Amino acid sequence: MKIMIMALMVFAYSNRVHAVDRALLKGSLIPGSLITGKVAPGSKINFHKKTVRVSPDGTFILGFGRNAKLTQSIEILDPNGFTYTQNIKLKKRTYNITRIDGLPGRKVTPNPKDVKRIKANNAGIARVRQLDTKTQNFLNGFQWPILGRISGVYGSQRVLNGKPRSPHNGVDIAAPKGSTVLATATGTIALVHQDMFYSGKTVMIDHGHGLSSIYIHMSEILVKKGQLVTKGEAIGAVGMTGRATGPHLHWGISLFRTHLDPMLIVTGKTNVKKAQ
Ligand SMILES: [Zn+2]
Repeated sequence: MKIMIMALMVFAYSNRVHAVDRALLKGSLIPGSLITGKVAPGSKINFHKKTVRVSPDGTFILGFGRNAKLTQSIEILDPNGFTYTQNIKLKKRTYNITRIDGLPGRKVTPNPKDVKRIKANNAGIARVRQLDTKTQNFLNGFQWPILGRISGVYGSQRVLNGKPRSPHNGVDIAAPKGSTVLATATGTIALVHQDMFYSGKTVMIDHGHGLSSIYIHMSEILVKKGQLVTKGEAIGAVGMTGRATGPHLHWGISLFRTHLDPMLIVTGKTNVKKAQ
């Protein structure tokens, strides 16, 4: 009898272990990447101690930041209450670090009025990065917002007089002023701002599940807040509004507050020249 109970327990335990299917993951397993995953409908996913939105068909997305740990894991809770921890190994990635020493100590600091404006601008951007809408517009794919010379890559960082500045959190594409900027993916216009202190004319698009894209320094904005745009639709024109030294588009993609590398996310035609 004892043996039978033990055998039953072992059977039940092994059943429990194998009850949850692994999530199918699509995307590059590398820092800066966006991953699309699929689990059994009705499952729950925990990632970094937070519950991730899972659509009724079992689709979810994960993002890995610039300095993401190379060993990651997700916890899958299936509709029957069984859990399974799936490990994800990321490839190591290095970034371009430029050290510039011997700069004069004095630098431009924004005055108190500017600081107030910068804070308000950042709060507006942060609000969009809190959205967790149930649309799955990211499933429609991603494209370049404009083609041109890449003058700045994701993750690069400058160290001025030994002080590291914040890493570049998007891609800079140099293009003549007035060139059309396209929506990188289908989504809803979540922010339109005509004059941000650093970013100038700024547009943000919500693609669903916490994924958003941002387009800054534009000379013109062609969309309104709340408008639905499809992938490849014109949203504005390249400029150098805000703090920019030449006409270019700064383009970013974030999953909530985690900045991702747009170049790992777009498919199709790519730009030819890479920045140093
Ligand atoms: Zn930039």
